[in-house]
Amino acid sequence: MIIEVEKGRRATITQIRELAARFGNRVETTEGDGIYCTLHVIGDTREFSTREGFIRNLPGVRKAFRVESDHKNIARVARGEGGVVRRPRRVVEVPGLDGKVRRIGAGRHVFFVGPDSPQTMAQTLAIARAARTIAERYGIEDRVILRGGAFKPRTRPTDWRGLGMKGIAMLDAAREETGIPYATEVMDHNLAAEIAEHADMLQIGTRNAQNFDLLEAVGRLARPVILKRGFGNEASEWFYAAEYVANQGNLDIVLCERGMKTLFTKGGYCRNQPDFNAITYARRSTILPVIFDPSHVAGDHRLVPENLVASLGHLVDGTITETLHDESFRQEQLCDARQALLMDHYATLVEAVLAFEEHVLPRLAQVLEALDAL
Ligand code: PEP
Ligand code: MN
Repeated sequence: MIIEVEKGRRATITQIRELAARFGNRVETTEGDGIYCTLHVIGDTREFSTREGFIRNLPGVRKAFRVESDHKNIARVARGEGGVVRRPRRVVEVPGLDGKVRRIGAGRHVFFVGPDSPQTMAQTLAIARAARTIAERYGIEDRVILRGGAFKPRTRPTDWRGLGMKGIAMLDAAREETGIPYATEVMDHNLAAEIAEHADMLQIGTRNAQNFDLLEAVGRLARPVILKRGFGNEASEWFYAAEYVANQGNLDIVLCERGMKTLFTKGGYCRNQPDFNAITYARRSTILPVIFDPSHVAGDHRLVPENLVASLGHLVDGTITETLHDESFRQEQLCDARQALLMDHYATLVEAVLAFEEHVLPRLAQVLEALDAL
């Protein structure tokens, strides 16, 4: 629900907040039009909105209306009988022990990097240290987040499925030493709260993209979430999945395009087909930041660099890349070994991203703005 109130009407705003809290909702405020601010009531607002008449009559309220979109909490444009509100895109913040806050969606590329999975303490620390070195070398300490799945969804039941909480302990150690926060996958809704006590960010993988109990479980936790698109999901199904999370009150969601299975991927030239236009569509249709995974589309590390760079043209807010600390470890890596990029190569790609931001992005933005104005 959207409510427009005169700025400075503290009593009215407090009353609305308290009413929202009573129905299990939360209120976010954004700059409105002129003397008004806009209140967004987050979560499932069916009960709250039965008080619409009462809210409309509070002093200073100009408008109060229900949003008609199917994914109300995350829609970029909130439409209802009372009007249309274009909402600002959201910035998802991930603070680190190093005192720096990573801001995803704030206009600067955020680099998620790390192993497919923490497998040994030495490997996990080596990658984290290399990430720290790169962050310092390029002055991007507030833009690097570690990744690593301790709980692995595997197609074959006999394949290695990660170290579970032992892997989480390795990621904890890597964060402790380097100060870099980490994102890790959650598969079981019963374990979500326990993992969230450790992890800085949770990931829902492509195979669980429509696991509604899991989506709701992370929606109830105060942790940012990376939501990968299901490999066979339409864009709208991806947005509905995000809405499952948002409906529980957690709007700190980062959408991630990671490629789909198509007729063509059977040809073997890539693991999944990237849908770059879905990135643009998600950015325009939702308030959520959007990142891209060049590793799972590639399946082969020799194909990762061009996919990563290709996503920049679609104005991604970041990329999530699987890496290897040392070529000799490739033989030992138990999951996604072939697609892991060496950290040295990754460092050069960081340079490419920074060069893109400096030289290409301003011109691209200029053309896109001109097209938007047509
Ligand atoms: C992963 O990030 O390692 C992973 C399993 O990703 P996806 O869910 O996209 O396959
Ligand atoms: Mn992987």
